[in-house]
Parts: sequence; structure tokens; C-alpha cells
Amino acid sequence: MKHTRALYPGSFDPITNGHIYIAERAAAVFDELEVSVLINPQKQSTFTTEERCEMAKEALAHLPNVTVNHFGGLLVDYMKQQKFRVIIRGLRAMSDFEYEFQTALMNRQLSPDIETFFIVTEARYSYISSNAVRDIYRFGAVVPGMVPPIVERKLREKFHRSE
Ligand code: ADP
Repeated sequence: MKHTRALYPGSFDPITNGHIYIAERAAAVFDELEVSVLINPQKQSTFTTEERCEMAKEALAHLPNVTVNHFGGLLVDYMKQQKFRVIIRGLRAMSDFEYEFQTALMNRQLSPDIETFFIVTEARYSYISSNAVRDIYRFGAVVPGMVPPIVERKLREKFHRSE
């Protein structure tokens, strides 16, 4: 049997229960999964790369075959360098589909050996995005069940909320 290593790239700014669910499902199928935080100088992030990695590490600590790392530059270059052949992406709704479809075709064009696997989320996670979570905390609201406890703590610290 082949030992298959998959990469789940994303901004994870911050990691949500939606991301964790996708990582759990991928980790059940592939031998190894690396959740990799993208360093994108073009995109203003709320959390630093280190903070995003730290939150992801703690949130995924229950999965023994999952590691957390970060990368910059072109995804396919990083994958070749680290010998990954599989990209994992999560799909929430049709709105994700167009972007994901285009990116998968582009990556395939750049590197035909690399396969993108999509995992369709469940309804209970389909409305969760890092963006929405950030806005909710920024404006002082709390919605249970959207993020793991470490992220909840960090969001409160970041947006200066005391309890
Ligand atoms: P990016 O900025 O690269 O879109 P994200 O951190 O937003 O990165 O998401 C990484 C991946 O996880 C994407 O494939 C995205 O569609 C998926 N994802 C994000 N939130 C959810 C969710 N709630 N359910 C399933 N997949 C999700």
C-alpha cells in the first residue's frame, strides 16, 4: 500500500470548526495530513502566521497523523519540494465551487501530478467562515460552536473583550 501524504492549505485566519471537520475527514482517509497556513503578503491577515499555526496546532492536537506548518509562494512549488501529491479543499456551497474549480484546474496545469480532492461539508458547518467569525467577535457577539476554545480565547484577546 502507498503511503499518501495530503496537504490542506488555507489562510486559517483563524481556524474554525468547519476547517477542523474537513481535517478530521481527510485524516481518516489519508496516511498523513499537513494543514498548512498560507503566508500571503498581498492579503492583510487578522492573526500572524505564528498565531494561526499555534491555534491550528492546538485545535488539531487530537489527530495523531496531522501536522501544522506554513508556506509562502506558489502552492505547487511547496508541494513538489515537500513531496505532496494531494491537495485537500473543503466545499461549503456553490459559491466556493467556482473559485475552487478554477484553482484546481490552474494547479493541474502547473503540475499534472498533483490531485485536488474536495470534501463537502455538512449543513451545520456550511455557514461558518473565518471572515464571519472575525466580524462576529469584532462586533462583540458570540456564537457557540463555530470555533474551538483556543480560537475563542484568542479572538477575545484580539478584540479586547474581557470575559
Ligand atoms: P482560503 O483563504 O484559501 O480560501 P480558508 O482558510 O478560508 O482559505 O479555507 C481553506 C479551505 O477550507 C477552503 O477550501 C475552504 O473552502 C474550506 N473551508 C473553509 N470553511 C469551511 C467550512 N465551514 N466547511 C468546509 N470547508 C471550509
